[in-house]
Amino acid sequence: MSTTYTVINPSTASPVTEVELADVDRTDAAIERAAAAFPPWRDLAPGERARLLRRFASVVDEHIDELAELEVRNAGHTWGNATWEAGNVRDVLNYYSAAPERLFGRQIPVPGGVDITFREPLGVVGIIVPWNFPMPILGWGMAPALAAGNTVVLKPAELTPLTAIRIGELALEAGLPEGVLTVIPGKGSVVGERFVTHPLVRKVCFTGSTAVGKKIMAGCAEQVKRCTLELGGKSANIVFADADLAKAAATAPYAVFDNAGQDCCARSRILVQESVHEQFLEQLGKAVQGMVVTDPGADRGSEMGPLISAHQRDSVRGYLDDVDVVCTGPAPDGDGFWVPPTVVAPRSTDDRVWREEVFGPVVAVLPFSDEAEAVAMANDTEYGLSGSIYTRDVGRALRVARRVEAGNLSVNSHSAVRYWTPFGGYKQSGLGRELGPDAPDAFTEEKNVFIAHEEATS
Ligand code: NAP
Ligand code: MG
Repeated sequence: MSTTYTVINPSTASPVTEVELADVDRTDAAIERAAAAFPPWRDLAPGERARLLRRFASVVDEHIDELAELEVRNAGHTWGNATWEAGNVRDVLNYYSAAPERLFGRQIPVPGGVDITFREPLGVVGIIVPWNFPMPILGWGMAPALAAGNTVVLKPAELTPLTAIRIGELALEAGLPEGVLTVIPGKGSVVGERFVTHPLVRKVCFTGSTAVGKKIMAGCAEQVKRCTLELGGKSANIVFADADLAKAAATAPYAVFDNAGQDCCARSRILVQESVHEQFLEQLGKAVQGMVVTDPGADRGSEMGPLISAHQRDSVRGYLDDVDVVCTGPAPDGDGFWVPPTVVAPRSTDDRVWREEVFGPVVAVLPFSDEAEAVAMANDTEYGLSGSIYTRDVGRALRVARRVEAGNLSVNSHSAVRYWTPFGGYKQSGLGRELGPDAPDAFTEEKNVFIAHEEATS
């Protein structure tokens, strides 16, 4: 029995299309097809697997505008972001298309023989994607997994299935054999959970909330199933008094309000050295009020769109009930799920808005006295995904970058994620790393083989 889900355009709250949701039986059938497709995909000559991935990348490239348009409609992303995201899928496929011929083992010196290691693919990999960045997160899991010789079953978020479904079709168009990549729209509690419990799925890559991530990890423990977790964040943007304050204030809004704050890397806590705190707030306010917050479907110049759902909007508004709002930017008052970019001043570091991942366009600002206090405040969180440091003192930049417990830091920049550098979290922000040169290894087992060459006995 199957059910359908009505996809909603979050900018207007109007229906876009219906999508059929898979039940457990259809999920099982797809996993079995992926398992059957595994041996021939694994055994394909490395250069042939590389060629197919490059062809997949060029077919995605031919459909950038179509994919971007789907994402603007399905997720309310701005045009700039949506085209970047589709291009990111192409680039990540191209980058990892170089991996099949470079999946090196090692030769390790041993007495009496030769010792060599092999990187062998796992089998079927299950990828669970959230709604905030449907295309990039799909690509970051899928591309290195396929390059290493695994087959993939992929569940998009219920709210944002459209680009994933289209990319699944493009894979077939590019010549990937049936069953190598299967997109399965459905509920997390049905399809996602089946990836965890089905013994033929050998690894689960999950991106989403910390609460669900913990359940996935516990479920995987049952079969000692490999898992990679990419979870929440509450990242700090630390602004020292010696920084280029104008640049720090002008860029801070985009480091948290991009994608309407629905970004695990959002720098949602700004820590400002007390001697420049007032001055920074004033400049930040001007930057926030100057943001272009419009329906991205109607305005290609929009810098910030709506939240993904009425539920997410209400959850974000809940954080604004009992805080001092310093300033707000613009927002349309139509039917979509809009919240204006908002700057708040918590009363203390105990406030909910300072501690919890709001996942919306809300940034909290607090002053600090010196470097030691800045580091202590930045680390006073269960999360550790990213962060920024603004200072002109190179020594301080390096000291603070080494002391902040987070996986991805940028100095005098709110560096976007680059597919050729590793990405992942400390503490409860995640487990394992994605992207970068080593990502294909995370989709393999390392096998050790010893070959004796003792002298012949006859
Ligand atoms: P979520 O429930 O963690 O959803 C993420 C993905 O996991 C979706 O594909 C979801 O499917 C699936 N899922 C849900 N329950 C599952 C289960 N029991 N087993 C397997 N898969 C499951 O996130 P959300 O509820 O949409 O968002 C809530 C909060 O999570 C946000 O406000 C934000 O704080 C955080 N979040 C973080 C990220 C990130 O990038 N780190 C991304 C999204 C959300 P369905 O779509 O069917 O639920
Ligand atoms: Mg959920």
